[in-house]
Amino acid sequence: MLENIRIILVNTSHTGNIGSAARAMKTMGLSSLYLVDPVHEPDGQASALAAGAGDVLANAKIVKTLEEAVSDCGLVVGTSARSRTHSWPMLGPRECGEKLVQEVEKYPVALVFGRENSGLTNEELQQCHFHMCIPANPEYSSLNLAAAVQTLCYEIRMAYLSKDAYPELENEYPLNDDLERFYNHLESTLQKTNFIVKNHPGMVMTKLRRLFNRARPESRELNIFARYFVVN
Ligand code: SAH
Repeated sequence: MLENIRIILVNTSHTGNIGSAARAMKTMGLSSLYLVDPVHEPDGQASALAAGAGDVLANAKIVKTLEEAVSDCGLVVGTSARSRTHSWPMLGPRECGEKLVQEVEKYPVALVFGRENSGLTNEELQQCHFHMCIPANPEYSSLNLAAAVQTLCYEIRMAYLSKDAYPELENEYPLNDDLERFYNHLESTLQKTNFIVKNHPGMVMTKLRRLFNRARPESRELNIFARYFVVN
């Protein structure tokens, strides 16, 4: 079950951080590491810092985009050193661990970490269902990337060790792929009816994504739209 909790590092600059993140994961029982467009692929420095977690590093999947990394996930949580994104549903570290452990029974889940110097872009953050911020010192809240990974993996482990105490998840949520297909259909329908002008799309889709993300439609609810798009 812990092997379906995916740690995703986006566009990491320092290979040492990739190695340290692998070590942080293995100490807490996690093994699925995805690297989205790393600046350098894992090297000797990464292996040195991974220490006994060389297997996690060796099995890391390298992909081009975040979309690719989360396409088969039903829950995606993005992390940020600043709670700059108040407009998005937020989780604390503890709730985040519990939610990941609860939902991983149904599908792969992902926790996404940003670049050392600039974090995640707004576009990347928009691909996440929830945002998570470690409530660190407000005067200096930016943890080292691997330290942030360690903190969250610890919370995941704590949640995992007491998972029998949580209620089972009742709702089925769609995988990211299905959601993206829904957004594409929605967009092309809004274009066909000239509600959105193709060359001047404005913020309509961003706002609608935000709305649907906040509501978090269940699979059966999304299916209603899928049927609507088929007949129209
Ligand atoms: N200067 C960047 C900080 C990047 S730190 C910024 O302001 O966004 C590198 C990554 O570590 C972040 O993208 C995030 O994934 C993680 N991280 C660092 N501090 C964190 C915190 N307090 N809460 C959650 N994630 C944090």
